[in-house]
Amino acid sequence: MSRPSILISDPLPPHLTAELHTAFDVRECRGSDRAALLAAVRDADALVIRSATKVDREVLDHASRLRIVARAGVGLDNVDVEAATRAGVMVVNAPVSNVTSVAELTVGLILSMFRNIPAASASVRAGEWRRADFQGSELSGKSVGIVGFGRIGQLVAERLAPFGVELLTHDPYASPDFTHARGVSWLPLDDLVATADVLTLHVPLTPATRNLIGERELALAKPTLRLVNTSRGGIVDEVALARALAEDRIAGAALDVFATEPPTGSPLPHLDSVVCTPHIGAGTAEAQDRAATTVLDAVRAALAG
Ligand code: NAD
Repeated sequence: MSRPSILISDPLPPHLTAELHTAFDVRECRGSDRAALLAAVRDADALVIRSATKVDREVLDHASRLRIVARAGVGLDNVDVEAATRAGVMVVNAPVSNVTSVAELTVGLILSMFRNIPAASASVRAGEWRRADFQGSELSGKSVGIVGFGRIGQLVAERLAPFGVELLTHDPYASPDFTHARGVSWLPLDDLVATADVLTLHVPLTPATRNLIGERELALAKPTLRLVNTSRGGIVDEVALARALAEDRIAGAALDVFATEPPTGSPLPHLDSVVCTPHIGAGTAEAQDRAATTVLDAVRAALAG
């Protein structure tokens, strides 16, 4: 009997895929090469992807043997889960693989803003020594508002507590008892925005959270507010944010995610008060390994049973 076949169409750490070869027929292709993907998926019992491979109805129609699609990461935006389910194909992902990485990046971005680290570094690299231009602020004693008290929001709270900040949150699905037990005060969103020196966003992008932070919310903010978004771009109204920053109505923003990526044409990356990273929240060796390990275990289990 032939061995089950696993098609890997986005790069995975080779040290994690090496051991698959003993039990499976492992093939690789480039998922962004549509013709190659459609040809290779014909014989696949399992398809392992990251974000570049698009698994839509056409791919599923070409994959009569397919039993499982495994996304080594969190977002399933590139998989038509409904069509897969209808075709009897299981879809798995690794939802907790990168939460520590995102929480750590969030803390890094907050400190980067408070101490002007990216601008100061660029200045020294340019041969300057402008110490007086980079006076910062201490995070200690400030109010941090966490929008969304799920996995990442809670990890951010745990990591910021030792800095001596006041921790506040808004999450309609987390009870005040739950947040208070973790040392975090629960506030309505408007009160949170009006109180915070740092507002950090950790909610999924849904119709209810699109533009959750817009012109109206930014008008409530203190001029000391620094906004952090490591969740999804559409959660902040970028036009309203750029206006609030340009008019010094808030102090700064740190953005890992944008409504359109890359944010071509957006004024945000060009503002002095903005720190930007190119959607690297999950971009650590540990998160990538954890995601691959999780989904490869799921693939093994699915093909065994
Ligand atoms: P989670 O599901 O554990 O938590 C999300 C929380 O948001 C939940 O507690 C939910 O109750 C809350 N929420 C929902 N609607 C809300 C609203 N209107 N107001 C306030 N809270 C609301 O998710 P998570 O694992 O913590 O991830 C959070 C976000 O981080 C997601 O958007 C995810 O896409 C993003 N993310 C980004 C990266 C990156 O590379 N930058 C990586 C991983 C995850």
